[in-house]
Amino acid sequence: MADIINVLPDSVANQIAAGEVIQRPASVLKELVENAVDAGATQIDVVIKQAGRILIQVRDNGCGMSETDARLCFERHATSKIKSADDLFRLHTKGFRGEALASIAAIAHVELRTRQANSEVGTCIVLEGSLCKEQSPCSCEAGTSFSVKNLFYNVPARRNFLKSDTVEFGHIHEEFLRIALIHSDVDFKLYQNDKLEYNLPKSTLKQRLVNVFGKNYEERLMPIEQETDVVRIHGFIGKPNAARKTRGEQYLFVNKRFIKHNYFHHAIASAFEEVIPEKHFPSYFVYFEVDTEMIDVNIHPTKTEVKFQDERLIYSFLHSTVKRSIGMFHLGSNIDFDDISPIDFGAISSRNIPREPLTSTNSDYNPFEKSKSNPSAAYSSGNTVKVNESWRQIYESIQENTPVEYLETQGVITPLQEMEEPTVSLKPSIFQTINRYIVAKIKSGFVVIDPEAAFERILYERFLKNLNDTPSGSQKLLFPETLNFAPQNGDLVRDLLVEFKKLGFDLEEFGQNTFILNGIPLGFEEQDIQQNIEQILESYKNNLISLKISKKNNIAHSFARSIGRRRSKLFSEEEMQLLLSELFSTSSPQLSPSGKKICITFNEMELKRMFM
Ligand code: ADP
Ligand code: MG
Repeated sequence: MADIINVLPDSVANQIAAGEVIQRPASVLKELVENAVDAGATQIDVVIKQAGRILIQVRDNGCGMSETDARLCFERHATSKIKSADDLFRLHTKGFRGEALASIAAIAHVELRTRQANSEVGTCIVLEGSLCKEQSPCSCEAGTSFSVKNLFYNVPARRNFLKSDTVEFGHIHEEFLRIALIHSDVDFKLYQNDKLEYNLPKSTLKQRLVNVFGKNYEERLMPIEQETDVVRIHGFIGKPNAARKTRGEQYLFVNKRFIKHNYFHHAIASAFEEVIPEKHFPSYFVYFEVDTEMIDVNIHPTKTEVKFQDERLIYSFLHSTVKRSIGMFHLGSNIDFDDISPIDFGAISSRNIPREPLTSTNSDYNPFEKSKSNPSAAYSSGNTVKVNESWRQIYESIQENTPVEYLETQGVITPLQEMEEPTVSLKPSIFQTINRYIVAKIKSGFVVIDPEAAFERILYERFLKNLNDTPSGSQKLLFPETLNFAPQNGDLVRDLLVEFKKLGFDLEEFGQNTFILNGIPLGFEEQDIQQNIEQILESYKNNLISLKISKKNNIAHSFARSIGRRRSKLFSEEEMQLLLSELFSTSSPQLSPSGKKICITFNEMELKRMFM
């Protein structure tokens, strides 16, 4: 029997490969501009004629190529960017497959001019359908210029499949922006049919967005910022009131690479859910920086899908970071959005440390104690708490005495001071309603606070502090209590004994799953301690499954949640003021650690609109 298998000639193999890599003119632009970025260019000029059908030219001032490399770069699997399979997990470049130029050369007329800065002459190469027609020395600028003409001249099916110039230029435009938006340190120009379409000088990321999308983006954007062990998330989201019915600009980048990621999109979109009208879309420009080993960019030939390790964790960071920025937006326009501090439960980041004021608080003071507290005690001595400047402004505006007489006279609310001070002239600026929520006047309207969620936040930060550096005091029990746990919980308590002690639970092991409780945290109620601790353990175990957080964070979270939840009661005005002052000196007064809203603001404008 005759043999029937042939090995395809390179030109045919390249043409087949081109089918995957080069779908339309925009794909050529993407590959060439990415190569220019990889070559370290600081200036990239793009020239497009007839939506790329006639010409796509990309000129850069990058490293250029030697004579040999200029020839080699059109070979399949010719790349300077990776050497071994291991390098696939340490990608710092856009390209790495070494097939783009081979593919382009197979289906177009290509001219390359390139020169390395340290050589006097450059190289010029002309190719047609993978065949080298001409190679000669030439004089040219240092850097590289690729001209791709008559795309798909030898693949009529592809050529006929191209859409109108408007549609094709739309794709070019999009690919160009996906690179230009993230590489704001590169000067980009894009000419279309001799018209300078974009002129983007080197700038900051935000300025690049403004240069591309227009001056009003200056106003529309607010920053987000979050840094954790696994990821740094930063960027900008559109303010809720800038959401539009058309799908907004939605861009995700990881390590300076544009990506599509439905799951992360959901994290952002759902954070906007309650604050923008239905069928409106938020804009966002979110940049992730992660260890290159944490992502796999290799799963899709055109490389916009990227797989992350720890996706769930990043999802929750992203969601809460966006939520927080939205919350800040709603809390009032007096916040300087250029100066938000990341959600950082440990320390406030150094660039946000306010110069003043420093409020002294008494670390022993416990607002949850049943006995009536002496509010001034909280300010008298003890530790110094750095108050986040923005929140301080809000807090100060809460202090302004503005009457709520109308509500009082209507019997809608009962000022707490009424019993002691029967005159209405007191004009309280803070009161409690529906036996739970605290309402306080702020400059632009009023804020409603859920004390349970507020306590959760305050306790969380306090417990973290107890665990990290200043252990809580403990009150000795007159009659030490014996606690018996199921074996699994017993093991857990044994594991957490040190941490329990730091929070003020003086527990001592007493045989198998039995422990003796000698002391409890100051202010902690003595009833149902066993049940309380079991609830805390349950929450701790749940967190182990659902949230990947550190042991300390988990403990603080579980304690704050279990204890905070049962702290709703009627407060005196002093207690409320104190609660607010404590809340607004936490790092995130807007959201509780378990993601519950702490406060909702109503501004005058919104109220008026509601009555229209
Ligand atoms: P890849 O980018 O995946 O390596 P390409 O086919 O896009 O593959 O490019 C092949 C090689 O040609 C690159 O690895 C690089 O060494 C070289 N090259 C391509 N474009 C440029 C450029 N603008 N400046 C300098 N070198 C370039
Ligand atoms: Mg490339």
